Amino acid sequence: MGRAASSPSPLAGEGGEEGGPRAQSKPRHPEKVNRPSTPAQRKPDWIRVKAPVSREYQETRALMRRLKLNTVCEEAACPNIGECWKQRHATVMILGSVCTRACAFCNVATGRPDLLDPHEPEHVAQAVGELKLAHVVVTSVDRDDLEDGGAGHFARTIRAIRTAAPETTIEVLTPDFLRKEGAIETVVAARPDVYNHNLETVPRLYRPVRPGARYFASLRLLQRVKELDPSMFTKSGLMVGLGETREEVLQVMDDLRTAEVDFLTIGQYLQPTPKHHPVDRFVPPDEFAELQRQGLGKGFLLVAASPLTRSSYHAGEDFQRLRAAREAQLAGAA
Ligand code: SF4
Repeated sequence: MGRAASSPSPLAGEGGEEGGPRAQSKPRHPEKVNRPSTPAQRKPDWIRVKAPVSREYQETRALMRRLKLNTVCEEAACPNIGECWKQRHATVMILGSVCTRACAFCNVATGRPDLLDPHEPEHVAQAVGELKLAHVVVTSVDRDDLEDGGAGHFARTIRAIRTAAPETTIEVLTPDFLRKEGAIETVVAARPDVYNHNLETVPRLYRPVRPGARYFASLRLLQRVKELDPSMFTKSGLMVGLGETREEVLQVMDDLRTAEVDFLTIGQYLQPTPKHHPVDRFVPPDEFAELQRQGLGKGFLLVAASPLTRSSYHAGEDFQRLRAAREAQLAGAA
């Protein structure tokens, strides 16, 4: 899963073979072992992150271990973990720690997936309560091996959070549920506040970057969510710096608006290990500002675009902005 295309990932992280609680006895990405290595490029000055050293970081980590929960923050080696966990904003990754896809950008471990933990929904709800989260993002690995792709487990998790923390707003970042009939409907019926699914990259780069996924299937998922519940916020994310052109990114924006997606996140792709897809270029901050301007001009309610933007980065604050933007739009139309 993870940070990649097919999957529910936020955007790719960096940081090699770290990851979370999973034992490292086997290769983390067996399918990449024989791929050529591309040493990571030196990062520009505008990509600098704080080391994860705070007390809140340690406490959040201990809580996740105690409740046997995985986080995409750790598994994707997200560069923002020091900042997010200082505020106890962790993004939980359900359905195990091993993904059935093998995206070229993603640091989440791949291989034979874990058995489902039936207690995971309640443990996620407990973590939300202990962390006192006003807004929680729940993502997962891809589970092509499960008949429903894990949709039922998503729905159970949403319901468990609603029961334990009724004031908390819930954002899901799901896999593409490719060929899993009824899965999208199952998740939408559980009524998350935000339904996020990342397109990750432009269609031309799906084969090298997100080989298990299909661009139009992902786009159709987002459109389907709106058909099922027009009041549900929809969100998607793109990585840049993978070799896409500006025109291709603008075309993806148009496609997302055709699917009535409300919120777009755009961040810099960072190569997790030398075996992952290389960085084509580091996009400077002023280009992100320009993409944000273009996106807003195309009608998104919200566009977050910066080198370190990730799907779940500042998700709580952005949810408030999203809600305010819709209210302003409705007031303007009245
Ligand atoms: S940006 Fe998202 S994935 Fe990264 S540390 Fe923050 S909450 Fe976790």
